[in-house]
Amino acid sequence: MRLSRREAAITLALAALPCAGCAAAQKFGPGPAAGSSNAAASGGASASSQAASPSITSSASPRSVALPLAGSVVGIDPGHNGGNFTDPGFINQLIWNGREQETCDTAGTETAGGYTEALFNFHVASHLRDDLVAAGATVVMTRKTNNGVGPCVNHRAEIINAAHADVAIDIHADGGPTWGRGFTVLEPVADGPNDKVIRDSIGFGRTVRSALLKYTRMPQSDYYGHNGVVFRNDLAGLNLTTVPKVLIECGNMPNLTDAALLASPSFQREIAGAFTTAIISYLTGSQA
Ligand SMILES: [Zn+2]
Repeated sequence: MRLSRREAAITLALAALPCAGCAAAQKFGPGPAAGSSNAAASGGASASSQAASPSITSSASPRSVALPLAGSVVGIDPGHNGGNFTDPGFINQLIWNGREQETCDTAGTETAGGYTEALFNFHVASHLRDDLVAAGATVVMTRKTNNGVGPCVNHRAEIINAAHADVAIDIHADGGPTWGRGFTVLEPVADGPNDKVIRDSIGFGRTVRSALLKYTRMPQSDYYGHNGVVFRNDLAGLNLTTVPKVLIECGNMPNLTDAALLASPSFQREIAGAFTTAIISYLTGSQA
């Protein structure tokens, strides 16, 4: 029996549910051996093979499973950069964000204990990249380390646009009031360059919100937006995008409860796993 890409994705996603943070390991095991990816992507054994039909469970050979994101391109923007504070001249330069001028970037926020947003963003992005690659995707990241400066927010959008990503996510954590908790999904507002991807971005944002509520310990925001969603027309990453995209404030760093989660490696894997599930769901039409 040859499962369709959609069927395989649904089964794989369901198998991963008890442990969203371990999604890639549960779904794909150690990964296909070198040279086997084409066979896996094209459906595995030939019709004449006597091998048993592929059974899509956690015990199935990964070589017999069609990877759900084979052929897909995903953009990841880990917000800010660990070295941004070292070069204010570069970071404070004004760029055009599609509607108005804004600064190239900022240094980002941090917890009371000094855990930086830039590092959190980078760790989550790295876990997400690994999960997506294990699921067969090609991943484009706007930065590959956490010790550099930039790129500017408009250039980050250009990198993902140029890759013709099927979907993209900007990863941040907020610097809200100390009493406020929770994540927020930031959605684009039509402004010209992004007109064609508003509807898809809203659909993707809905899927991400559901996955965060279902698979992570972070609640939706109690201080910002409505039901964990807010529309923003002042951010280059959303104004300039030509691919479906949302920006996620994964939690509120100044809040001590959120900070304990955000700085924790287990939560960073957990939220990356939720993003992976949401992206597979969005790109394959399966249930998150
Ligand atoms: Zn940020």
